[in-house]
Amino acid sequence: MKTFICPGSFDPVTNGHLDIIYRAAALCDKLIVAVGDNVNKETTFSKQERIELLKTAIGDKPGISVEPLDGLLTDFARKKKSKTVIKGLRALSDFEYEFQMALLNKILDSEIETLFMMTNVNYSYLSSSAVKELARNAGNIEGLVPDSIKDKVLDKFKNYK
Ligand code: ADP
Repeated sequence: MKTFICPGSFDPVTNGHLDIIYRAAALCDKLIVAVGDNVNKETTFSKQERIELLKTAIGDKPGISVEPLDGLLTDFARKKKSKTVIKGLRALSDFEYEFQMALLNKILDSEIETLFMMTNVNYSYLSSSAVKELARNAGNIEGLVPDSIKDKVLDKFKNYK
């Protein structure tokens, strides 16, 4: 049984993330979407909220689960008996950070491979930060996040300003 792990902060999940999640799930038996924190980014949504948004967006799809990621990704992967981490890659801006993380994880556990999947051209510009910037300024986020979570994302910024 092949288990892949798709880690990220998903603050909140976008259609770009979902595209990667579904394409990654098609390559393995079980895909674990691992929701973690990034020391460089303070999140807008709590980890529990980010997990709930992902679960709502994904629905009941066999072979995909959403779980919290606390601690090191390599420890999490070992615990889940997975040797494969899969990540989306947009433009050059993602590359440097992802390159560093993948090499670091390789030092921590040489058995774990990191695979990169190119963004869907329709979503190459899309990021959680862009969605938040729009939502905060009453912009239209239609088509950028799944319809099922759109109102919850907008609600978060209702009282901003
Ligand atoms: P971000 O806050 O930049 O959206 P995350 O930590 O939530 O970042 O992203 C998790 C993974 O998803 C990263 O590997 C990131 O490159 C990837 N990703 C984010 N947005 C997209 C997109 N639009 N297309 C492809 N991959 C993406």
